[in-house]
Amino acid sequence: MKRLHNMNAAASAGLVRIVADLKYYLLLQVFVLFGCLAFSQMSWADDKAIMAELDAIQTLSDKNNQAGLLRLLEFKKNLPAETKPEIRLEILAVLSGLYYDAGKAKLGEETVKELRDLAKQMKNKNALLMLEIFEAYDIFEKAGYAAGFAHLEKLGPVVAQSPSIEVKFRYCAALAGFYSSNLKFDDALKQYLEMLKLSEKLSRRQIQAKMSTWGSISGLYLQMKDPEKALAATTEALGVSSASAAPKSFIEISISRGVALSALKRNDEALKEYETALKIATEEKLPYSVALTLFNIADQYLIKKDYKRAESYAREAVAKSEALEDKWGVAGAKVNLGLALGYQGKVKQGADLVKESIAFFEKGHAKSDVETIMGELSHMYEAAGMYKEALDQVREQQELGSEIFQSDRAKAVAKLQEEFDSEQRKRQIEILAKDNALKDADIKNHRLQQMVALLASLVGILAGSFIYMLYRRSKKLNEQLQEVNMQLEFHAIRDALTGLHNRRSFISLMANRVNRVEVERREGSYRNPDCMVLMDIDHFKNINDTWGHAVGDAVLKEVANRLKTVVRDEDMVMRWGGEEFLIYSPKSNPEQITSLVDRVLRTIGEQTFAHGDLAISVTVTAGFISVPFSDVPEEFCDWERALQIADMALYLGKTHGRNRAYGLSRLLVSHELAIPTLTHDLAAAIKDNMVEMIEVIGPVQEHPTVLTSLSNTLS
Ligand code: GH3
Ligand code: MG
Ligand code: MG
Repeated sequence: MKRLHNMNAAASAGLVRIVADLKYYLLLQVFVLFGCLAFSQMSWADDKAIMAELDAIQTLSDKNNQAGLLRLLEFKKNLPAETKPEIRLEILAVLSGLYYDAGKAKLGEETVKELRDLAKQMKNKNALLMLEIFEAYDIFEKAGYAAGFAHLEKLGPVVAQSPSIEVKFRYCAALAGFYSSNLKFDDALKQYLEMLKLSEKLSRRQIQAKMSTWGSISGLYLQMKDPEKALAATTEALGVSSASAAPKSFIEISISRGVALSALKRNDEALKEYETALKIATEEKLPYSVALTLFNIADQYLIKKDYKRAESYAREAVAKSEALEDKWGVAGAKVNLGLALGYQGKVKQGADLVKESIAFFEKGHAKSDVETIMGELSHMYEAAGMYKEALDQVREQQELGSEIFQSDRAKAVAKLQEEFDSEQRKRQIEILAKDNALKDADIKNHRLQQMVALLASLVGILAGSFIYMLYRRSKKLNEQLQEVNMQLEFHAIRDALTGLHNRRSFISLMANRVNRVEVERREGSYRNPDCMVLMDIDHFKNINDTWGHAVGDAVLKEVANRLKTVVRDEDMVMRWGGEEFLIYSPKSNPEQITSLVDRVLRTIGEQTFAHGDLAISVTVTAGFISVPFSDVPEEFCDWERALQIADMALYLGKTHGRNRAYGLSRLLVSHELAIPTLTHDLAAAIKDNMVEMIEVIGPVQEHPTVLTSLSNTLS
């Protein structure tokens, strides 16, 4: 937010702050002029000398307020008792102005009161009329614009009759201020032009009057949003005099130039103007000007987006205005401070400060300021991405804006500006909305993708785990099946009690024998035939009967175990029936067979079977044969027939005393002759010398059991 602080109060009354502040500027001007007026009626040399000193003090105060004030106070203190009231009036007028300039508003007010009392006492018409004009600002402040303006209008005829140029000049200035604050720019400008004419005829301080008027015109153009003309007006002002001649006026003009340049976006030049103004204001010890300049510098840094510096200058401006108890200055500086904070991300804090000031300016009817501030607040909201708040502010601003611009041209410009702004904003907001929508869509899409991915992975996991479960289940099932199969297979081929191969498994093994033998015959490996040893436990029934079936089972298991120990790896031990066992020993020669049978008899019969405390004597009787037997082709004597013959040999063993084995080594006659007899009556065949037999006797029983011996005896 920029602010114009014109010394010529009425001139920039559109910024109401100035109307308010202006009281003391006005006072200063009024009474400086009033002083001139009083002086014109003086004729004594002493009085002339006093007025010359007063002039000098005022010139000094223009350059250095503090030095001027000190010199004036000293001068007032040392005034001779007989000093004329006109001179006292003049001194009080200058003093009040210097007090206000120094930021000592209270002392300024007290001085004005003193001056008013003196003027009433003296019945000085010009002085009282000046005070009446000044009263309009007081009324405006207390009762509003209309009352203040009505008071001024009432004074019109009186002023017209007044011979005082100074009074006329003052009245024009007041009118211009009221017009411009009511947005009647044309009427205001007319008054300013009249003031320029009148200033030519002023007897004192013409330069200051002209500069101030041009400054006011510049302010008016700024209010009309015509910075080109505003800048031109300041150039006119600078053409009147230099900084050294009228530093205070120069500061005001510099600020006006800064504001105009800033409006023209010539920000570096604007900053330079403000910096010059600040330098002079600081040197001349003009606190109001310092505060105002700091305020405008903060504005430039806001434009430059150097928010840290903007904040720093705005804070300084707030502090200086607070020290001066200048509420308008504080409110203005707080706007810039709020904006600086807002742009630095402290949106809430910043907006609160700005809104506080808006409320203050609204109360002060500073529509133009409120309109400007709203626009800036809107931009701040926009920068913070708070589009709704931004739009709200823009709307309010536009309403106010159209209210402010009353003339057709201004209206058209405002309308255009409004349309442009709203179009621009709408576009920006639409773009942002689209951008957001895009982002939203993008996010949604992304989320969807994530969701799909998640679902997919979930499905994957589920399916996977399901499949895995199935797999595991089927694997387990397979394993179970395999186990069952293995068990089935085991049981199919194994004997449940002893774990030996069973008869079925041997039968299935022998089923493949035909093919195998064919291959071996072709390969010429037919030399060593396979051998079969069939065994039957002797008197097993007795074991069962004596010690029970369980012991019988234990004996069967032990027989199986012992048999397994005597065979080769390639040999096969089977449980052939109840207590019958079979050893199948492939490719074994006759010597090997005899040795095997011997080992079988001994492994069973040599050592008793232990079962608990029992020592059971067990023997077996065996019959053995090879297949093919005695080179007889298997088609004439297959494994089944051979086994049948072995069974006959076993039986022979039983009948010859048990615990022994008989084997058929070879045929002594043709198989056609021998085989039928062998299968039916081995004893007859032996007797007929059809066959060569081998006898293997079992081990001698050391401690034959009673039952066994009994049984032996019985048989
Ligand atoms: P021999 O010396 O003449 O062979 O006399 P033996 O007592 O062995 O006579 P036999 O062959 O008639 O008896 C066989 C018995 O074996 C009959 C049966 O009860 C018994 N047996 C068969 N299988 C089993 C089995 O699995 N467990 C038990 N404990 N006994 C069985
Ligand atoms: Mg038997
Ligand atoms: Mg038996």
